[in-house]
Amino acid sequence: MERLLVFPRSFPDESLYSLAVRYHRLTANDSYRQTSQELFGTYSRTCGSILPCCLHGLSKRLAGFYSLAELIDCFTLLPLYQPFLDDAAYEGAKAAMAGNRGTGLKMSLGITASRFLKHASFRYCESCVQDDTQRYGVAYWHRIHLSPGTCVCPHHGEVLRSLTFPHSSDWRCMLLPGESVGTPVMDSYGATAAGTVAEMQLWGLEHPSSVGELLNGGLLKHRMAELGFFKSGRIREKIFRPFLMERLKHGPSTNEFQEITYSCDWVLRMLHPRGSIVQPLKFYLLCWLLELGLCELQSFRPLAKAGNEYVPRRNNTNKTLDDAELESHRSAFLSCSNSKCHDKLGYQWLYRHDREWLNEYVTSHPFLRARESLIDWEARDTALARDLLIANEQIMSMSGKPKKITRSSLVRQIGQTHDFLRRPYKFPKSILLMNGLLESDHDHQIRKVRWAVKHFLLSERCATSVVFRHAGIRKSHMTEAEILNILSTV
Ligand SMILES: [Zn+2]
Repeated sequence: MERLLVFPRSFPDESLYSLAVRYHRLTANDSYRQTSQELFGTYSRTCGSILPCCLHGLSKRLAGFYSLAELIDCFTLLPLYQPFLDDAAYEGAKAAMAGNRGTGLKMSLGITASRFLKHASFRYCESCVQDDTQRYGVAYWHRIHLSPGTCVCPHHGEVLRSLTFPHSSDWRCMLLPGESVGTPVMDSYGATAAGTVAEMQLWGLEHPSSVGELLNGGLLKHRMAELGFFKSGRIREKIFRPFLMERLKHGPSTNEFQEITYSCDWVLRMLHPRGSIVQPLKFYLLCWLLELGLCELQSFRPLAKAGNEYVPRRNNTNKTLDDAELESHRSAFLSCSNSKCHDKLGYQWLYRHDREWLNEYVTSHPFLRARESLIDWEARDTALARDLLIANEQIMSMSGKPKKITRSSLVRQIGQTHDFLRRPYKFPKSILLMNGLLESDHDHQIRKVRWAVKHFLLSERCATSVVFRHAGIRKSHMTEAEILNILSTV
C-alpha cells in the first residue's frame, strides 16, 4: 500500500468529498478513478455521499494523520445521526463506513425510508463561497449544507443553491461550489423556519453528545408539557394535532420538507418510535414546531459542563469589525419591537459577528410566551360564587334545627365541583364571598334559639334551659339580654 505524499489541509466543516476534489486538483489527476484508487485503494462509489465508505483504507494511507474515527467525526455527517442511534446501530454504521462496500448503510439508518434522499443535491451558499475564497483561497463543500433538510445557510441565512454537474454527469467530475450552474433550492417562503432548523442541525452536527443529553433529558415531552400538550403521561392529541397543522402551514414546503409537512402523523410516530430510528431533520423540525430555537436547545441542558459549551465554528472575533457597524446592529436589534429574539432585526448578523453579546442579551431577556390559558378561570369563579350563594340560601332554609354555615357545609352543598379550596388564587371572588358567608358560633346560636323558641311558650327563666337543650347549645356564646330579647319577641 502506498502512503499519500500529499493531502490537503482541511477547512472548517469540510466534507470528505471536498477534500477528495482538492486532492484531485493537487495531484492533477485525470480521472476520479485514479484519485479514488490513490485515496482509498479501490474504486469508491460513495465518495460523494454524506456517509462515505472505504475510510479505513484512507486512514491507513494517511499513516495516522487522521484516524478512522477522526475521518468519520470531522468529514462525514454520521455525527448528525449519532445521538439518534443506539450503540449497536452506531457501531454498525462506523464499521460499514470503514469497509469498502457500505451496502445497506443508509437503509439501516432509516434514511432511505425517509425519502429525503430524492431531494439530495450538492448545495452551497454564495456568501460562504465568497468568504471561503477570500479567507482560504478556495471555495469548498460544507458538510452542513449537504445534510438533509438544510436549505438555508446557518451562517448567512441565505437560501442555498444546488449545483448542476455539466453534461448530465455527477460528482465524479470533481467540482467545487460555484464551478457550475447553481439554482436556489427553495423560494424565500418558509426560509425563516428553514434557517432555524439549519442552525439547530449545525449545532447538532458539532455537538452530538449535547443532543444526546437533550434526548435523554426528555426535551420534547418537557416542552409539550409546558405548552399543555402532554399531561399525566399522555399526549393530548385533540389539541396537539390542530396546533401542529397550523404551525406546519408556516414551515418550508419544498424539498425534504415536502415529505413531512403535509401531515403531522410522523410527529406522533416519532414520539412513540417503537424501535425505528428518528431522522435528525424530523427532530429539529419538531423542535421548531414546538417554538424552540437554538438558544432554547442550548439552554435546556441542566448544567453546562466545562469545555462542552458551544464553540463557534468560525473565528467570530470583533476585532476586524467597525465599532460603529457593531453599534448600529446592536441598536437596531434592541429597538426592534418583536418580543422573540430570533425575529428581531439583525439577529442573524449578531449571531455571526457578536455572539457573546447576543448570548448575554438572550440569557438576561428570557422570552416569556404569552400562552392563552385553556381554562377560563374567571368564568368558573363567577359560576362558583353563584353556586355558593345558592348553597347558602339552601342551608339557611332547611327545615329542622339550623345547620351552621361553615366551609365544609357549603362545599358539601355545591358538591365540591371545582375543588376550589386547593387553588384559592384561581377563585378570588368565590373565596371572598365564602368568607363573608361563614357563620360565627354566636350568630349560629342566635338562629338556633330563634328556631327553638318557636316551639315553646314557657316562662322566661324556665324557657332558657329548655330552649338551650332543644337547640343543642351547651356553652352559650350569647348574652343574657340577647336571649331574653328573643324570648320576649316570640
Ligand atoms: Zn453561508
